[in-house]
Amino acid sequence: MCGIVGYVGEREALPIILNSLQRIEYRGYDSCGILVQDNNEGKIHVHKSMKSIAQLKKNMSKSEYAGTLGIGHTRWATHGVPSRRNAHPHFDCDGEIAVVHNGIIENFQALKEGPLSNCRFKSDTDTEVIPHLIHQSLEKFNHQTSQKSSIKDAVRECLSHLKGSYAIIATAKGFDGLVVARKDSPLIIGVGDRENFIASDVPAVLDQTNRIIYLEEGDIAVVKKDSIYIENGDSEVKREEKIIPWTIEDAEKGGYEHFMLKEIHEEPKAIIDTLRGYLSEDGINLGVEFDAGRILMVACGTSYYAALCGKYIIEHLAKVPVQVELASEFNYSDFVLDDMMVMAITQSGETADTLMALKKAKRFGCKTVAITNVVGSTATRIADDTIYVRAGPEIGVAATKSFIVQLVTFYLLGLSRAKMPERELVERIDDLKWIPQLAQVVLDEEDVNIQKHARYLAGYENVFFVGRGVNLSIALEGALKLKEVSYIHAEGYAAGELKHGPFALLTKDTPVIAILSRDHIYEKTLVNVKEIKARGAPVIAIAETGDDEVEKYVDRVIRVPKTSAIFSPIPNTVALHLLAYWTAKARRCEIDKPRNLAKSVTVE
Ligand code: GLU
Repeated sequence: MCGIVGYVGEREALPIILNSLQRIEYRGYDSCGILVQDNNEGKIHVHKSMKSIAQLKKNMSKSEYAGTLGIGHTRWATHGVPSRRNAHPHFDCDGEIAVVHNGIIENFQALKEGPLSNCRFKSDTDTEVIPHLIHQSLEKFNHQTSQKSSIKDAVRECLSHLKGSYAIIATAKGFDGLVVARKDSPLIIGVGDRENFIASDVPAVLDQTNRIIYLEEGDIAVVKKDSIYIENGDSEVKREEKIIPWTIEDAEKGGYEHFMLKEIHEEPKAIIDTLRGYLSEDGINLGVEFDAGRILMVACGTSYYAALCGKYIIEHLAKVPVQVELASEFNYSDFVLDDMMVMAITQSGETADTLMALKKAKRFGCKTVAITNVVGSTATRIADDTIYVRAGPEIGVAATKSFIVQLVTFYLLGLSRAKMPERELVERIDDLKWIPQLAQVVLDEEDVNIQKHARYLAGYENVFFVGRGVNLSIALEGALKLKEVSYIHAEGYAAGELKHGPFALLTKDTPVIAILSRDHIYEKTLVNVKEIKARGAPVIAIAETGDDEVEKYVDRVIRVPKTSAIFSPIPNTVALHLLAYWTAKARRCEIDKPRNLAKSVTVE
């Protein structure tokens, strides 16, 4: 959450900073701020705004904001309401030291009331203590030594006072570089030719470079136009430069109105890319030793629902018991961690709660695996092993293609240890190779099969999603997606559970979306649907092509292609992702920027 960016080089910084910010606006969009420094003129230009980056691009001119060094911030407020006054960068009392920050400074109040009690604070943020502390450290050093001390040393001294999480970029008037540091929040350096870039996330710099340095916990770096110096503790460290395989087209809308729709349409390709990495003529090779007797999956949000689906998939295919926990609950629970393999599922590899869960599992001596989309992300460095999903950059705040490829890794995991006769295994692997087509068929029929139902759904304020077995988690995901982007109150339930309470809410104004895959509990789910109908609620079924039975009992049917039951979550997911998108579109919602949300939740 919160995107921070920086540039130092020979070109005008303003357009580069604005472009970078726009590319990571998914990390927060409460407000934004930009600083450009003109070292020839010795001037700092600052602009803070509640407008979108697109609007700033139209209104800000290069000539007014000249300079070849800049920093920027797009905020997801944690302390202090979204307002211009609270927008970053924040400054010291002299207005000479500027800081943009992603994270939370937990002891900011104590610092304000203690060592910084003489400072004039201009915002309600936790962040503002940082420039004041840097200022104090600089003063202290300059007082103690005859030599002018470096801003890097002052940043380092400042950080020793901070509790909490941060990725920061600091600069000072007249200084020709950026000082950056991180702890529990992501930060990368994009390496250029006589110029360098800083950002919270890779898509911010993809149009400039694919040479990326991932800073590690506790790193402090001084980035200038032709040098990058990194230290950790007391000594200089070298961090490997990685070449990122993503292209800039991957991070652009490519003619679609919204990233969300583009990314749903990329689901078949993401599945193919993920399968290609691990499935060959010789079988499945995930490159991870998968021999545990028990698995614990930890995750948040959409990844948590993927994990719930993964439980059914792995237990069905491999007969290995799987337990799934919300990372934010697991972290503070007395959960008994014995000899189990812990899998952390996080698209960004930076989800704060999930990283904490990984660290806890490691402390307990468990073998850990990260399942993530981002090469070199923090989760990959904490976990013993990593399985990469290959979704490509996901920019839409509502996760879509990353969810579906997480399911793909669970199929691969399950089948890599399948307990079934050889002939059946061959059939299952063949089914797996077909799943991109299953997704594609749903996409091909989007206008006839989904959009009219979405327009119908858009008129309601409460919706239930029900499913059973492997599709229970898909019902939960469908509900989450709908509420995220369309603001319709939606709840996902096990189909058999509605009668234990939620039935009280069923009326003609509460449509129920029922996933009716042809599995071993199809008849049971159909009974549940009849019970729902008897209470007067309209039912939209997600049902297989050729299932004519279902039409007798429901009001509307969204068709998905026929497949073996265990793979039915794939077409069902695509259908529900599209349904959420088109419903939000019919309600004219800001689909790529749902209110109060941001992608990559890097705060606890
Ligand atoms: N705590 C800072 C603020 O509220 C940064 C927030 C964040 O990184 O999400 O401005």
